[in-house]
Amino acid sequence: MLQPSEIERVLVVMAHPDDVDFSAAGTIALLTDAGVEVVYCLVTDGQAGGFDHSIPRTEMAAIRREEQTKAAAEVGVASLHFLGHVDGSVEVTMQLRHDISGVIRTVRPQVVITHSPVRDLASTYGSHPDHNAVGEATMCAVYPDARNPFAFPGLPSAELDDWAVDEVWILNGPDADDFVDITAALDRKIAALRCHVSQHVDPDAVEARVRAWWGSTAVAFGLPAGSTAESFRVIDTR
Ligand SMILES: [Zn+2]
Repeated sequence: MLQPSEIERVLVVMAHPDDVDFSAAGTIALLTDAGVEVVYCLVTDGQAGGFDHSIPRTEMAAIRREEQTKAAAEVGVASLHFLGHVDGSVEVTMQLRHDISGVIRTVRPQVVITHSPVRDLASTYGSHPDHNAVGEATMCAVYPDARNPFAFPGLPSAELDDWAVDEVWILNGPDADDFVDITAALDRKIAALRCHVSQHVDPDAVEARVRAWWGSTAVAFGLPAGSTAESFRVIDTR
Protein backbone atom coordinates (compact mmCIF):
# COMPACT_ATOMS: atom_id res chain seq x y z
CA MET A 1 0.00 0.00 0.00
CA LEU A 2 1.48 3.32 -1.07
CA GLN A 3 2.08 5.66 1.88
CA PRO A 4 0.75 9.26 1.89
CA SER A 5 4.27 10.61 1.26
CA GLU A 6 4.31 8.64 -2.03
CA ILE A 7 0.91 9.94 -3.21
CA GLU A 8 0.04 13.31 -4.73
CA ARG A 9 -3.55 12.65 -5.74
CA VAL A 10 -6.26 10.07 -4.95
CA LEU A 11 -9.48 9.58 -6.95
CA VAL A 12 -12.45 7.94 -5.20
CA VAL A 13 -15.03 6.44 -7.60
CA MET A 14 -18.31 5.54 -5.90
CA ALA A 15 -21.78 4.51 -7.06
CA HIS A 16 -23.81 6.66 -4.65
CA PRO A 17 -23.49 9.69 -2.40
CA ASP A 18 -22.64 8.38 1.13
CA ASP A 19 -20.80 5.19 -0.04
CA VAL A 20 -17.43 6.84 0.53
CA ASP A 21 -18.41 8.03 3.99
CA PHE A 22 -19.40 4.56 5.18
CA SER A 23 -16.31 2.93 3.74
CA ALA A 24 -13.29 5.21 3.41
CA ALA A 25 -13.86 8.71 4.84
CA GLY A 26 -11.53 8.09 7.80
CA THR A 27 -8.72 7.11 5.45
CA ILE A 28 -9.46 10.16 3.32
CA ALA A 29 -9.33 12.52 6.30
CA LEU A 30 -5.86 11.18 7.13
CA LEU A 31 -4.71 11.51 3.49
CA THR A 32 -5.83 15.13 3.25
CA ASP A 33 -4.21 15.83 6.64
CA ALA A 34 -0.95 14.61 5.05
CA GLY A 35 -1.33 17.01 2.11
CA VAL A 36 -2.71 14.53 -0.45
CA GLU A 37 -5.31 15.96 -2.84
CA VAL A 38 -8.41 13.74 -2.85
CA VAL A 39 -11.12 14.02 -5.53
CA TYR A 40 -14.52 12.30 -5.52
CA CYS A 41 -16.29 10.90 -8.58
CA LEU A 42 -19.96 10.04 -7.95
CA VAL A 43 -21.42 7.87 -10.71
CA THR A 44 -25.07 8.43 -9.69
CA ASP A 45 -26.89 11.11 -7.75
CA GLY A 46 -28.57 8.60 -5.43
CA GLN A 47 -32.05 9.41 -6.68
CA ALA A 48 -33.35 6.04 -5.44
CA GLY A 49 -32.11 6.46 -1.86
CA GLY A 50 -33.78 7.60 1.34
CA PHE A 51 -37.00 6.91 3.19
CA ASP A 52 -39.09 10.12 3.08
CA HIS A 53 -41.94 9.82 0.59
CA SER A 54 -42.72 13.53 0.99
CA ILE A 55 -39.53 14.50 -0.86
CA PRO A 56 -40.25 14.56 -4.62
CA ARG A 57 -37.86 12.21 -6.42
CA THR A 58 -37.05 15.00 -8.87
CA GLU A 59 -35.49 16.94 -5.97
CA MET A 60 -33.49 14.06 -4.53
CA ALA A 61 -30.50 14.32 -6.89
CA ALA A 62 -29.84 17.94 -5.95
CA ILE A 63 -30.30 17.19 -2.23
CA ARG A 64 -27.84 14.32 -2.35
CA ARG A 65 -25.22 16.26 -4.32
CA GLU A 66 -25.38 18.96 -1.67
CA GLU A 67 -25.14 16.43 1.19
CA GLN A 68 -22.14 14.72 -0.42
CA THR A 69 -20.42 18.06 -1.01
CA LYS A 70 -20.83 18.96 2.70
CA ALA A 71 -19.62 15.51 3.78
CA ALA A 72 -16.57 15.86 1.53
CA ALA A 73 -15.69 19.16 3.20
CA GLU A 74 -15.68 17.41 6.62
CA VAL A 75 -12.71 15.29 5.48
CA GLY A 76 -10.83 17.89 3.46
CA VAL A 77 -12.21 17.19 -0.04
CA ALA A 78 -13.30 20.14 -2.19
CA SER A 79 -13.40 18.66 -5.71
CA LEU A 80 -16.29 16.41 -6.79
CA HIS A 81 -17.25 15.08 -10.24
CA PHE A 82 -20.88 13.96 -10.64
CA LEU A 83 -21.34 11.74 -13.69
CA GLY A 84 -25.16 11.82 -13.56
CA HIS A 85 -25.91 8.15 -14.21
CA VAL A 86 -29.22 6.93 -12.77
CA ASP A 87 -29.26 5.31 -9.33
CA GLY A 88 -30.24 1.63 -9.52
CA SER A 89 -29.54 1.34 -13.25
CA VAL A 90 -25.74 1.26 -13.42
CA GLU A 91 -24.29 -1.22 -15.90
CA VAL A 92 -20.73 -1.78 -17.14
CA THR A 93 -21.16 0.03 -20.45
CA MET A 94 -18.51 1.57 -22.70
CA GLN A 95 -20.12 4.94 -21.90
CA LEU A 96 -19.49 4.45 -18.17
CA ARG A 97 -15.92 3.26 -18.81
CA HIS A 98 -15.38 6.33 -20.98
CA ASP A 99 -16.79 8.68 -18.35
CA ILE A 100 -14.63 7.26 -15.55
CA SER A 101 -11.56 7.21 -17.82
CA GLY A 102 -12.14 10.89 -18.52
CA VAL A 103 -12.09 11.67 -14.80
CA ILE A 104 -8.96 9.56 -14.28
CA ARG A 105 -7.23 11.41 -17.12
CA THR A 106 -8.34 14.75 -15.66
CA VAL A 107 -7.33 14.05 -12.04
CA ARG A 108 -4.21 11.91 -12.83
CA PRO A 109 -4.24 10.02 -9.49
CA GLN A 110 -1.60 7.61 -8.19
CA VAL A 111 -4.34 5.75 -6.26
CA VAL A 112 -7.97 5.01 -7.13
CA ILE A 113 -10.36 3.86 -4.39
CA THR A 114 -13.50 2.04 -5.55
CA HIS A 115 -15.99 -0.78 -4.91
CA SER A 116 -15.31 -4.45 -5.41
CA PRO A 117 -16.26 -5.69 -8.87
CA VAL A 118 -17.14 -9.04 -7.25
CA ARG A 119 -20.34 -9.78 -5.33
CA ASP A 120 -19.70 -10.58 -1.65
CA LEU A 121 -22.20 -13.33 -0.85
CA ALA A 122 -21.92 -12.46 2.85
CA SER A 123 -22.98 -8.84 2.34
CA THR A 124 -26.30 -8.22 0.61
CA TYR A 125 -26.18 -4.44 1.19
CA GLY A 126 -22.50 -4.15 0.37
CA SER A 127 -23.09 -5.90 -2.95
CA HIS A 128 -25.62 -3.47 -4.40
CA PRO A 129 -25.49 -4.13 -8.17
CA ASP A 130 -24.52 -0.49 -8.76
CA HIS A 131 -21.48 -1.01 -6.50
CA ASN A 132 -20.24 -4.08 -8.38
CA ALA A 133 -20.85 -2.40 -11.76
CA VAL A 134 -18.93 0.71 -10.71
CA GLY A 135 -16.09 -1.47 -9.37
CA GLU A 136 -15.84 -3.38 -12.66
CA ALA A 137 -16.13 -0.27 -14.86
CA THR A 138 -13.47 1.48 -12.77
CA MET A 139 -11.07 -1.47 -13.05
CA CYS A 140 -11.61 -1.41 -16.83
CA ALA A 141 -10.99 2.34 -16.86
CA VAL A 142 -7.75 1.92 -14.87
CA TYR A 143 -6.62 -0.82 -17.25
CA PRO A 144 -6.67 -0.59 -20.19
CA ASP A 145 -8.77 2.46 -20.97
CA ALA A 146 -7.23 5.49 -19.22
CA ARG A 147 -3.64 4.47 -20.05
CA ASN A 148 -4.36 3.51 -23.66
CA PRO A 149 -3.73 6.56 -25.87
CA PHE A 150 -5.85 4.95 -28.60
CA ALA A 151 -8.96 4.35 -26.45
CA PHE A 152 -12.29 6.01 -27.28
CA PRO A 153 -11.44 7.55 -30.67
CA GLY A 154 -13.55 10.62 -31.36
CA LEU A 155 -14.95 10.87 -27.82
CA PRO A 156 -14.15 13.64 -25.31
CA SER A 157 -11.82 11.65 -23.02
CA ALA A 158 -9.58 10.87 -26.02
CA GLU A 159 -8.65 14.55 -26.06
CA LEU A 160 -6.96 14.15 -22.65
CA ASP A 161 -3.48 12.71 -22.11
CA ASP A 162 -3.44 9.06 -21.08
CA TRP A 163 -2.68 8.20 -17.45
CA ALA A 164 -1.61 5.03 -15.61
CA VAL A 165 -2.85 4.56 -12.04
CA ASP A 166 -0.34 2.88 -9.69
CA GLU A 167 -2.69 1.23 -7.18
CA VAL A 168 -6.39 0.51 -6.74
CA TRP A 169 -7.72 0.16 -3.21
CA ILE A 170 -10.93 -1.94 -3.20
CA LEU A 171 -13.27 -1.18 -0.30
CA ASN A 172 -13.40 -3.71 2.58
CA GLY A 173 -14.99 -7.12 1.95
CA PRO A 174 -13.64 -10.61 2.43
CA ASP A 175 -10.59 -10.05 0.23
CA ALA A 176 -9.24 -7.11 2.22
CA ASP A 177 -5.52 -7.54 2.86
CA ASP A 178 -4.54 -4.16 4.30
CA PHE A 179 -6.00 -1.52 6.60
CA VAL A 180 -5.74 2.07 7.75
CA ASP A 181 -6.02 2.87 11.47
CA ILE A 182 -8.64 5.65 11.44
CA THR A 183 -9.01 6.07 15.20
CA ALA A 184 -7.73 9.66 15.02
CA ALA A 185 -10.17 10.52 12.22
CA LEU A 186 -13.28 8.71 13.45
CA ASP A 187 -15.04 11.86 14.64
CA ARG A 188 -14.66 13.44 11.20
CA LYS A 189 -15.90 10.26 9.50
CA ILE A 190 -19.00 10.32 11.73
CA ALA A 191 -19.52 14.02 10.98
CA ALA A 192 -19.34 13.26 7.24
CA LEU A 193 -21.85 10.42 7.56
CA ARG A 194 -24.24 12.66 9.45
CA CYS A 195 -24.28 15.11 6.52
CA HIS A 196 -26.46 12.61 4.61
CA VAL A 197 -29.57 13.78 6.43
CA SER A 198 -32.00 12.54 3.76
CA GLN A 199 -30.76 8.96 4.23
CA HIS A 200 -30.90 8.36 7.96
CA VAL A 201 -34.13 7.71 9.85
CA ASP A 202 -32.10 7.30 13.05
CA PRO A 203 -28.62 8.89 12.75
CA ASP A 204 -27.61 7.79 16.27
CA ALA A 205 -28.26 4.15 15.36
CA VAL A 206 -26.20 4.56 12.18
CA GLU A 207 -23.34 6.02 14.20
CA ALA A 208 -23.45 3.14 16.69
CA ARG A 209 -23.44 0.59 13.87
CA VAL A 210 -20.53 2.27 12.10
CA ARG A 211 -18.48 2.47 15.29
CA ALA A 212 -19.05 -1.25 15.87
CA TRP A 213 -18.20 -2.20 12.26
CA TRP A 214 -14.94 -0.33 12.12
CA GLY A 215 -14.04 -1.37 15.67
CA SER A 216 -14.37 -5.03 14.68
CA THR A 217 -12.29 -4.38 11.55
CA ALA A 218 -9.52 -2.94 13.73
CA VAL A 219 -9.58 -5.99 16.01
CA ALA A 220 -9.49 -8.33 12.98
CA PHE A 221 -6.26 -6.65 11.86
CA GLY A 222 -4.71 -6.90 15.34
CA LEU A 223 -5.17 -3.34 16.58
CA PRO A 224 -5.99 -2.81 20.26
CA ALA A 225 -9.62 -2.70 21.44
CA GLY A 226 -11.01 0.81 21.14
CA SER A 227 -9.31 1.36 17.77
CA THR A 228 -11.15 1.71 14.48
CA ALA A 229 -9.90 0.80 11.01
CA GLU A 230 -11.00 0.78 7.38
CA SER A 231 -9.83 -2.16 5.26
CA PHE A 232 -8.92 -2.50 1.60
CA ARG A 233 -7.76 -5.00 -0.98
CA VAL A 234 -4.71 -3.29 -2.46
CA ILE A 235 -4.07 -4.04 -6.14
CA ASP A 236 -0.82 -3.08 -7.84
CA THR A 237 -1.85 -1.80 -11.28
CA ARG A 238 1.56 -0.59 -12.46
ZN1 LIG B 1 -24.22 2.61 -2.33
